[in-house]
Amino acid sequence: MPSSTETQLGEVPLPEKFSDPEWETRVNLAAAFRVAYHYGWNRTINNHISARIPGEPDHFVMNPTNLGWNEMTASCLIKAHVDGTILTDTELSLAPAGQNFHSAVLDAKRHLQCVFHIHPADGVVVSALKDGLMFADQSACALYGMVAYHDFEGIASAADEGPRIVKDLGDHMVLIMRNHGLMTVGRTIGEAFAYMQRLVMACETQVKLLSTGAEINQVPVEILEHTRQQMTARTEGQPYGEQAWPAIVRLADRLDPGYRD
Ligand SMILES: [Zn+2]
Repeated sequence: MPSSTETQLGEVPLPEKFSDPEWETRVNLAAAFRVAYHYGWNRTINNHISARIPGEPDHFVMNPTNLGWNEMTASCLIKAHVDGTILTDTELSLAPAGQNFHSAVLDAKRHLQCVFHIHPADGVVVSALKDGLMFADQSACALYGMVAYHDFEGIASAADEGPRIVKDLGDHMVLIMRNHGLMTVGRTIGEAFAYMQRLVMACETQVKLLSTGAEINQVPVEILEHTRQQMTARTEGQPYGEQAWPAIVRLADRLDPGYRD
């Protein structure tokens, strides 16, 4: 059984201009884009996932604007400083709306590696509901206590919105951006991906549930708290989703290993 690093990196030679940690981050982030596209979470050139480079706390990589998520590769990702300076010599650029709040979160929350932001249809529906996410099924229950909200201010391109997003996120792992979309964070790319997967599932279930028009069976608060404690205990202090991440990378490889380029 190969180690997770070998599983993720395979035999791909490391380009000389990237350190090993940067290349591994780029490969994993590109895999996240490809599988998120495969799941239908984003089929536009918009939305962003960013990841801090291990050993370079001020630097992160993120998708360039004008490329679809099915086109992302390890080498096309743009490297930037958390102060907004672009470090990659490229004609491609970062979208200001995405860069503003990704850099703000990564600058303020140094224990996090990844910020994941999408606008999936059912997630946008839940973001526009007055009461937001319901904790009505097991997937949603496991997020109880982890969800924060940020009010819509227009397209998030204003630099001064970043600190407000950071403040609203607080210590939560999930931020529902009202009338806009979803954001998750993670101590690893796999953790942010796993929280997003659970959040998207919860939103899809909620929309179907509400569409029935039937009375909803409410989960008692003590059961919600118990479920969250169970979820925390299962991770044994490790980032949530770490066990599932190698399978996501294998899926990316089966879909198209070209993301490793
Ligand atoms: Zn957005």
